[in-house]
Amino acid sequence: SPARSLPDTIAAVATAPGRGGIGVIRVSGVALASMAQALTGKTPEPRTAGFVRFLDAEGRTLDEGLLLYFPAPHSFTGEDVLELQGHGGPVVMQMLLARCVELGARLAEPGEFSRRAFLNGKMDLAQAEAVADLIEASTVAAARSAVRSLSGAFSDEMHRITDALIDLRMLVEATLDFPEEEVEFLEKARALERLEDIRARLVDVLERARQGALLRTGMNVVLVGRPNVGKSSLLNCLAGEERAIVTEIAGTTRDALRETIAIEGIPVHVIDTAGLRETTDPVERIGVERTWREIQRADVILRMVDARAGSSAPDEAIDAALPAGVERITVHNKIDLCGMAAQRSEVEGRVSVYLSAQRGDGVDLLRAELLRVAGWHAHGEDVVLARERHLQALRAALGHVEAAGAQSAALELFAEELRQAQERLGEITGEFTADDLLGVIFSRFCIGK
Ligand code: GDP
Ligand code: ZN
Repeated sequence: SPARSLPDTIAAVATAPGRGGIGVIRVSGVALASMAQALTGKTPEPRTAGFVRFLDAEGRTLDEGLLLYFPAPHSFTGEDVLELQGHGGPVVMQMLLARCVELGARLAEPGEFSRRAFLNGKMDLAQAEAVADLIEASTVAAARSAVRSLSGAFSDEMHRITDALIDLRMLVEATLDFPEEEVEFLEKARALERLEDIRARLVDVLERARQGALLRTGMNVVLVGRPNVGKSSLLNCLAGEERAIVTEIAGTTRDALRETIAIEGIPVHVIDTAGLRETTDPVERIGVERTWREIQRADVILRMVDARAGSSAPDEAIDAALPAGVERITVHNKIDLCGMAAQRSEVEGRVSVYLSAQRGDGVDLLRAELLRVAGWHAHGEDVVLARERHLQALRAALGHVEAAGAQSAALELFAEELRQAQERLGEITGEFTADDLLGVIFSRFCIGK
């Protein structure tokens, strides 16, 4: 893999495509002072912003702006890094990038800067992932959580648990040499109590990571109801102040049937099934089919009915066609028209919320109900913005710690389970991560990251 051979010099536009006041090109490699000299005609001063002209091979000015030079190892990647801050137009950025290539750089692959930062020990894998998560965060809460992981809060926690595992392993392995004293020794060392402490910490972090996964990916809500029952009104009301800032995700197109709002910082993807009627129009039909596919991934289905009428046959028909295992909440809207009070009721496990989408009465009850279904009970600061990869590793580590507890009479097996738990945790920070997995993780980053 290229990162393991002698590092070559890579370059990419680091700012988003399109036009902006400023555009930044990032370059990483070895001996970049000479490249800076060729680019600007000046010797760069480390870590000092200098106003320069960026020059082509003939000495003509391509652009003017700021040049930053970070000599290794005190840089994002741990290599020499140059940052060229020019004017943020696509053409001028491409001209500057081409000039860097002329001077020996090659175009960076997606995630290659982060990958180098990881391989050079500037940050661990969980932190590198947090960079990507911060950039992709769609709510304020998700962004805050990503920043905490980025600054190492999650990694530090993994290291503390790992250290406790190592201590315990050393203790047990030392005891293996003195079989006759095993039991007494472990009792004195309170080995099982220490194991239980590790287990409790894993359970706790796993739960906070599960909450974080929710914050990262959000929940899918399908909104079902006849025309005019108040679906659009409810969406507006639920969204409230904090509308999620959601840009288009690569590879998907925006469609009118899907909207993302934020509830307590959790992205809630709401699919309005208004378009789910039978249609013969082929274009409309594609939209309908896509909606049905999204419905299969629903976490909760909101069945909206008019509080004055209760449910009626056409609602039941759509409901019957929806996936069976998914939680359903019946929303009785327009209570203001029949003098009912806002309330939540539960009959034989079927939850109903009575509200007025127009006046907002009872909408907080629905919000709380959605959070309950999602399993959200965290409070901001504790949440770990985890990925599925992290959850799997945490669950596996917990499994080994629990297995160790069950093996406490056979010390060799006990020690082996601890070793495996330690390895699983090491996958999170990247201490025990195979090269091909690294490739997969970093290739999902954008270019310039
Ligand atoms: P949709 O077709 O299901 O999206 O329904 P809309 O949200 O567009 O609402 C249809 C009509 O019902 C609009 O005129 C709304 O103002 C009205 N409406 C929605 N919710 C309420 C409510 O809680 N009370 C009253 N009185 N009217 C409502
Ligand atoms: Zn509507």
